[in-house]
Amino acid sequence: MKFVDESVIKISAGNGGNGCMSFRREKYIPKGGPDGGDGGKGGSIILEADEALNTLVDYRYQPLYRAQSGEPGKGRNCSGKAGEDLVLKVPVGTVAFDDETQEMIGDLTQPGDQLLIARGGKGGLGNTHFKSSTNRAPRQTIPGTAGEAREVRLELNVLADVGLLGLPNAGKSSLIRAISSAKPKVANYPFTTLTPNLGVVKMGQYRSFVVADIPGLIEGAAEGHGLGIRFLKHIARTRLLLHIVDLLPYEGTAEEHAAVIVSELMQFSPTLAERDRWLVLNKADLISDADAQASVERIIAALDWQGPVYVISALGTEHKAALDQLCYDIMAYIEDYRDQLEQADFAEAQMNELRQVQQEGRETIMRARDLARAKRSADASDDDWDDWDDDDWDVDVEYVQ
Ligand code: GDP
Ligand code: MG
Repeated sequence: MKFVDESVIKISAGNGGNGCMSFRREKYIPKGGPDGGDGGKGGSIILEADEALNTLVDYRYQPLYRAQSGEPGKGRNCSGKAGEDLVLKVPVGTVAFDDETQEMIGDLTQPGDQLLIARGGKGGLGNTHFKSSTNRAPRQTIPGTAGEAREVRLELNVLADVGLLGLPNAGKSSLIRAISSAKPKVANYPFTTLTPNLGVVKMGQYRSFVVADIPGLIEGAAEGHGLGIRFLKHIARTRLLLHIVDLLPYEGTAEEHAAVIVSELMQFSPTLAERDRWLVLNKADLISDADAQASVERIIAALDWQGPVYVISALGTEHKAALDQLCYDIMAYIEDYRDQLEQADFAEAQMNELRQVQQEGRETIMRARDLARAKRSADASDDDWDDWDDDDWDVDVEYVQ
């Protein structure tokens, strides 16, 4: 799934130090010549691509950056110290724009790539430079120039690591809220989520993974009902699927709800249905441990489930340990996956799997569209169908926090 993660930062490079006016004064040299040194140059601001990072969220919390100014020149022909460059680490794939002119400054595509985004001021000239045969005691100097200052928009196309699947009201948005800094809308009715939400889950300073909340998938999505199918294709790009099930649904049973999602997934893409998926049973706070256990057993039996199961509560603190364990396990899983991706054959197999899922998904979407068209012409007054004419398979989803 492709989201645009963005942050705007205000940066100012360091000013150049002023040139110095000074004359040599020594005991037996009454009229020494000029010896005012030059000012140091100001520090520049540089972006550097770092593989360890995968989001720009930190820049949202700290948007101001200033590099050191150069020191002024001094007497005895001493130049001022240059200001240090400020290097800001960003994820590989970051693109920088001037936020005022919208002009692209550059992009960082390889680990270690550097991009200068604000040039430090030049150091001024000391009065030594103005010495000439006609002017032996110049009092002239040149001040340093100001460092560049601008607002820079950083943009990154993020791939979500984890996709959440579940019927409306299962608690997907609540889960994202509970584990990340994203604050999607939560409400007790279906379809609160109309656009995918993205949450970055931070585990310590440098470890994080990205979770995508996909709008409610409902029964019949694969045949074109509701919004669900449009978003299933986004989930195709996530690595791990979490299937969120409400343990105490208003209507029907938890196992029925769980089965609906599995069947939608199968219809959308059998290959996607085989991707690693964990069962996450939510709202455990609403029922006793014994009832939860009984429900877990029924769901496992109904789905013939072999994979991992977590019983959590996205609200309250009672089941905090389970929620922490879930995040911890996801992080370990994703890190392991990132390591494996470095092997060429593994990466290629992943790519082939993704193509397969996309192919199957496209076919499902086409089928749903044809069905919708047939239905529309059979019953012109039926407005229950979405307009499938715009093929939005490849749209990018803009993420706005
Ligand atoms: P989504 O449609 O899957 O995104 O579900 P939401 O996160 O919007 O949650 C739907 C409703 O269930 C809201 O009223 C939430 O407050 C409630 N809810 C979500 N998680 C829990 C939970 O763990 N316990 C309880 N008691 N309510 C929850
Ligand atoms: Mg939601």
